[in-house]
Amino acid sequence: MKTLLLDKSQTKTAAEILRRGGIVGIPTETVYGLAADALNGGAVAKIFAAKGRPMDNPLIVHIADFSDIEKYGLVKEIPDGAERLARAYWPGPLTIIMKRSDVIPKEVSAGLDTVAIRLPSHPLARQIIREAGVPLAAPSANLSGSPSPTTAQHVLNDMDGKIDAVLDGGACDVGVESTVITLATDVPRLLRPGGITVAQLRAVLGKTEIDPAVTHMLEEGAEAASPGMKYKHYAPGANVVLLKGGDSAYIDYVNAHADDRTAALCCDEDIPLLNVKTLTLGKRGDYAAQAHILFDRLRQIDDDGGITTVYSRLPSTDGVGLAVYNRLIRAAGFEVIELEKV
Ligand code: AMP
Ligand code: MG
Repeated sequence: MKTLLLDKSQTKTAAEILRRGGIVGIPTETVYGLAADALNGGAVAKIFAAKGRPMDNPLIVHIADFSDIEKYGLVKEIPDGAERLARAYWPGPLTIIMKRSDVIPKEVSAGLDTVAIRLPSHPLARQIIREAGVPLAAPSANLSGSPSPTTAQHVLNDMDGKIDAVLDGGACDVGVESTVITLATDVPRLLRPGGITVAQLRAVLGKTEIDPAVTHMLEEGAEAASPGMKYKHYAPGANVVLLKGGDSAYIDYVNAHADDRTAALCCDEDIPLLNVKTLTLGKRGDYAAQAHILFDRLRQIDDDGGITTVYSRLPSTDGVGLAVYNRLIRAAGFEVIELEKV
């Protein structure tokens, strides 16, 4: 299959392909999504095939307006918290899980009785959804397991020849996938951290639990509240190793293990102190900037074919830092070295 590279004036072409049951990479403010008509199970199945995504990992349904939930009859009922969350944070990087209706194909919900819905803020994403005239199911447009794409070029690197088109809308703003919260439980529960923080969720919902899988590896055999959480994810080819400890302990450890196949994913402030190749995530403490650049840096590690080990500091879990922490700990396969114990 030849993959068309569309520019931002060609939303109608993208919409037409989607209406006919094709799959298209589209920009959103979080990461690029690989979209299909969410109400067409056959079209959605093509997404799983192109990504190599396990069939038990459900997809997020993207809408252009809050009223689309009722217009397409996507859910059994809209829970009270959903309207309040939508008023506060939609359009934006927040996905809300609710009890699904029967119009949701099994390919989208992966057999669950719920559906994940998001209203993206990216103007091109909303325009394509409107022009397609259907809600769009869209996971991140990367090969399953590899870092999510934040540019059209990242999408092509993974998907050229496997999808109908990608529409180039420039680099994504947020850079990590949406915050996922479920309202299908008694107490609202964060399943995946993203650009909307825990504090922002609690400001609207009050009590909000954090699923243990956000920060920890699922125990063998445990059922995942969010199936995507159980897979090793976001990982470059090189081994990512997280280091937990103070500033100087971290610098000393990396320098002691320096060789020409080692790199550090670090902050600007660390660059002059490290004796290895560095890939910066920006200024220390600027979590939004770290989220924005993280996946691009993880992909750069692979572009530089010779790197076999990448050391990174264990990120903070404050604010948007929790999203960076969640992605990096998965990229590292949960491998953390506690420097005080070394
Ligand atoms: P992606 O689309 O690649 O950003 O991944 C979507 C994430 O949302 C995955 O971790 C899914 O497991 C999760 N997800 C989607 N739908 C549901 C649902 N109905 N219940 C729980 N998690 C979901
Ligand atoms: Mg993904």
